[in-house]
Formats: sequence, structure tokens, C-alpha cells
Amino acid sequence: MCYIFLSDFGVGVIIFKKQGVSMKIRVSKNDALIVVDVQNDFMPWGALPVPDGDKVVPVLNQYIQIFVERGASIFASRDWHPERHSSFKPYGGTWPVHCVRNTEGAMFHKDLKLPKDTYIISKATTEDKDAYSAFDGTNLVNILNERGIKRVFVGGLATDYCVKATVLDALRNDFCTFFLEDASRGVEVQKGDVEKAIETMLLNGAVSVTLKDLK
Ligand SMILES: [Zn+2]
Repeated sequence: MCYIFLSDFGVGVIIFKKQGVSMKIRVSKNDALIVVDVQNDFMPWGALPVPDGDKVVPVLNQYIQIFVERGASIFASRDWHPERHSSFKPYGGTWPVHCVRNTEGAMFHKDLKLPKDTYIISKATTEDKDAYSAFDGTNLVNILNERGIKRVFVGGLATDYCVKATVLDALRNDFCTFFLEDASRGVEVQKGDVEKAIETMLLNGAVSVTLKDLK
């Protein structure tokens, strides 16, 4: 599947970027937008803040509008942890308590304009297991396949954790995968983490795009 993508679009995007040739990706109904973890606790004022995390919201809204217009599918993943989740510091994990299900911190940012038929993917819903990828322990791959989706466009929070993990799993599952660079932000626990994450995604076959690459 990705070979078709490479000849049809991937090379085109690279040429477009190098030479300024106006070759754009046309979003169609067999595409999916995957909005990763745009939840209150990942906002700059949240429990596990991503610097400038709120900046992804207006950009994602523009992507959402394009995907809605084309009849494409929209998915939104969310951390949906039980109160005593093993990723939380008090329970032996590395992260502060965040995104406890049904709390305000676990809600999507209020300005994120998800359409009513958005498919919500809840992840890391049991105490013992964490999940960075929207594919991990969820039925996302089945639904994408059922809907005949070949290409996925992934953006949100955070670039160096859940976005990266979702992109890599999409590639492993043979989806042609685009990383939405302008609609993602990273935590950057160590300086350079975001750059490394992007490099890893691209080396594994993802294509980095921004709004201007789509039509
Ligand atoms: Zn979490």
C-alpha cells in the first residue's frame, strides 16, 4: 500500500518541498485524521503540560474542516486512565496524575471542533498498562480497515510520545502515514527529543506535512 502512496504522493511531497512545485495531497474519503490526546491535562495549564500544547487546537480545527468537507473519517484518541493508573508517580510510574477518566483534565480542549461522528479512541484504560499509541490495546486498526482507509494523518500531543508512537504503529500496520508537523507539539523532557522523534518517524516512512501541503 505504501508503494502506491510513495509513487503517487510521497515523492511528490518531497519534490514539492525541494523545488517549490505546487503538488498537493488531495484528501479523500478513504483518508483518516487521527487527533492525538488534545486533552486539558496536556495543555500548558494542565497536570502534565506540553509547552504550547494549546497552539495545536486552531490548526487541528482547520484540518478537521478539510476532512469533514471531503467525507473523510476523523478519530480522536484520549488517555482515559483509572484513578490508580500505573503510569502515575504515586503508583510506581513516571508521570504526574493526569487524564483520569471522566475528570475535567481528561476532557478534550473546549475549542477543539470535533464533529459529532468523531470516533473516540480511549487508551490505557486499565490500571496495569500504559499506552502511548492510539493503536495500543484499542480497536483502531480494525475500524480503519473496515472503513477501507489507506492513509492516516496524525497530529496532536505530544510529538515525542503519543504522536510518535501512533505514527510508528500506523506504519507497522501498513498505512501510508503523514505526520502533521504544524498541528503537533512535544514535551521535550530532554532537549532534542522532538527533533529525534520527527527523525524517527521520517526514517520509518512517515511524511511530514503542514496545512499548505493539502488541498
Ligand atoms: Zn497517560
